[in-house]
Amino acid sequence: MKPARKIVPPTEAAPSEENPFEAMMQRFDQAAERLSLDPGVYKILRTPEKQLITSIPVMMDNGELEVFRGYRVLYNTSRGPAKGGIRFDLNVTLDEVTALAAWMTWKCAVVNIPFGGAKGGVVCDPFRLSQSELERLTRRYTASILDVLGPESDVPAPDLNTNEQVMAWIMDTYSMHKRHTVTAVVTGKPIIMGGSAGRREATGRGVQMVVKQALRELKLPLHGARVAVQGFGNVGSVAARLLEADGLTVVAISDKTGGVYNSQGIYTDAASRWVHENRFLEGFPHGERITNEQLLELEVDVLIPAALENVITRRNAPNVQARIIAEGANGPTTALADKILDEKGVFVIPDILANAGGVTVSYFEWVQNREGYFWSEEVVNQRLRDVMIQSFEHVLQYSRQHNVNLRTAAYMLAIDRVAAVHRLRGIYA
Ligand code: NAD
Repeated sequence: MKPARKIVPPTEAAPSEENPFEAMMQRFDQAAERLSLDPGVYKILRTPEKQLITSIPVMMDNGELEVFRGYRVLYNTSRGPAKGGIRFDLNVTLDEVTALAAWMTWKCAVVNIPFGGAKGGVVCDPFRLSQSELERLTRRYTASILDVLGPESDVPAPDLNTNEQVMAWIMDTYSMHKRHTVTAVVTGKPIIMGGSAGRREATGRGVQMVVKQALRELKLPLHGARVAVQGFGNVGSVAARLLEADGLTVVAISDKTGGVYNSQGIYTDAASRWVHENRFLEGFPHGERITNEQLLELEVDVLIPAALENVITRRNAPNVQARIIAEGANGPTTALADKILDEKGVFVIPDILANAGGVTVSYFEWVQNREGYFWSEEVVNQRLRDVMIQSFEHVLQYSRQHNVNLRTAAYMLAIDRVAAVHRLRGIYA
């Protein structure tokens, strides 16, 4: 095999363990180096294609004018329309949005859906805005990025602090400009206006599917396998419930108020009902209280971090006892922790694969909108299963072929796919 060429990244900054985006780019560099990526394609893939910065004047309810700042970054569109969420948050920065857009590029490529990667954001505190202020902000932001939006060019979705209603306003604003209804311009819409069956559960369901594949791969019995889930929101609660239904034993769950442990298994329906009624797990009576830190170090077969980034670090990685980690959250494991987990032989299913069920069903939503024909939830779930299992197998094969862990394999596979398209398309001059 020819030796990989040393690639010098354009940034001199040392990757920090706490910055998941730098960690992601560091992983990109490692994978690019192993692929012996030609320097020209490397430069293209390390650079965002388009970055929009826009000012968003909004008339507030009190009659005063406020000007917000918005971003939309199309990182790479070589494989198809850009795909990625829009977040409303005070901490949104251009750098963060750009890194998240890159992340979407690799995620779409690893599950081989024909999308590129994008991300958008508006710097605001959505909890301090009235519903009508939020609507005016969303519509003006949409109008200001209209040049890039479109089913063929850029298809947003919900992200931090945005939801189905925000998607409905984006769809309406775009459609008003086009003079006809264009449902395929956003995904994550309410089902009644073109959303897909199964979208809400898709990420957790995808996690369930890859966990089962990993257990089979490691020849561990499904029945009775012990599972701990950090984060009992959309991703974590669905993954926990589906795995419980498959016969695994969910021994621990947690949310931002802490965790619950029960060696006999936690009845996840009861936990969901509790959260529904009390907002948080705090006070849930069917187990002993544990901290989020303790949850990560439990003696379990499967650990699913499904809350936050950077929770498995070099400090606690030596104490992780799980055989399998399925990353429901984005960036839960730092690069330094990865090394330690590797040495311990932990089977880590990386975020860009494990939580790609959501973007896969977003793709299905876009397909259904363009077909004007909707699939049953059963069909959606079956097709999701096909994509997740096939992607898992591809990444596994790639990891064996190149003798690397699953994370590096997933990045290599994704980058290889995007790079191949760039080579075929050539450079338009
Ligand atoms: P969510 O808001 O529905 O749930 C988040 C859960 O994490 C809640 O139970 C919350 O209490 C808990 N949490 C918050 N802070 C915590 C802390 N400090 N310690 C422990 N738990 C804490 O969010 P979600 O949609 O389930 O997303 C969870 C993660 O999965 C995020 O990293 C998100 O980016 C990622 N993700 C989500 C999707 C999706 O389709 N929802 C897709 C891909 C990736």
